[in-house]
Amino acid sequence: MCGIIGYIGKKDILNVIVSALRRLEYRGYDSAGLAFINQQESLSSIKTAGKISDLELCLKQNTIDPAQTNPSVGIGHTRWATHGEPTQINAHPHLSQDKRFAVVHNGIIDNYSAIKDKLGKKGYTFLSDTDTEVIAHLIQECYEGDLRAAVAASVEQLTGTYGIAVISSAHPDTIIAARKGSPIVAGICRDETIIASDVSAIINHTKQVIFLNDGDILTVTPEGLDITAVGNVPVTRELTHIDWDITQIEKEGYDHFMLKEIHDQPSSLKNAMRGRLLPDNGTTKLSGTQLTPTEMAGIDRI
Ligand code: GLU
Repeated sequence: MCGIIGYIGKKDILNVIVSALRRLEYRGYDSAGLAFINQQESLSSIKTAGKISDLELCLKQNTIDPAQTNPSVGIGHTRWATHGEPTQINAHPHLSQDKRFAVVHNGIIDNYSAIKDKLGKKGYTFLSDTDTEVIAHLIQECYEGDLRAAVAASVEQLTGTYGIAVISSAHPDTIIAARKGSPIVAGICRDETIIASDVSAIINHTKQVIFLNDGDILTVTPEGLDITAVGNVPVTRELTHIDWDITQIEKEGYDHFMLKEIHDQPSSLKNAMRGRLLPDNGTTKLSGTQLTPTEMAGIDRI
């Protein structure tokens, strides 16, 4: 499982995101990236295959100086590839065709192939082999001036699992997050909001957090946050005080990492097969192309 992060606040945003991504590295990673909106209200993205240290190197090489760019909001991602090789192109964030929307995603979109075909017919081109890129294009397709509504209309079309965070140059002070089957938690602080897929990325900012439910859509702005449930109904989710330390969080309540990994096996197996063993479409490779008959025969023997 990958890690996602989003931040709105007065601290050095790029530094906050990179530090939070470091705390998510224990979940595994093969690439990392971030996107942010600067004071000129344009969207920039940096991503790379490799570790968080490689991402830091990229930031230095691209001479991104936070003092100069002074971003207002940002999102970040550590990837554990499910669809598409671990390359720079496949790393998140993924951008919409018009480059106005950036998405980071934790999970697997089962019906990405059908959505890709549909968007392809409308003229969208895809740069990556990921299932995630369809989300960025879908948001562009659904956008009519309201970012939350565009994200809501997009996730309605998805089957599978997702925890996503979205930013847009059209809404330079907003992050939208949504979840189904993959966690999203928001850390509540006085002058800042940090969202993540995992409390371990938040715990050094605040111990007051809100866990989203499946189907929730979270809107974060400098003024605070709003949550709507399915059907655009405003909801209030309970504030939770986290009193675990970082090691307890990483072990998710188990006494040892080995026990956690044993109990993770059913969900790990399910995730490994998600989107690849589809009753209607047969079996697909990592790239999404159909397997050859010889490859299918190999699978039958397993
Ligand atoms: N399915 C997405 C990908 O392969 C997200 C993987 C993840 O959760 O890290 O890019």
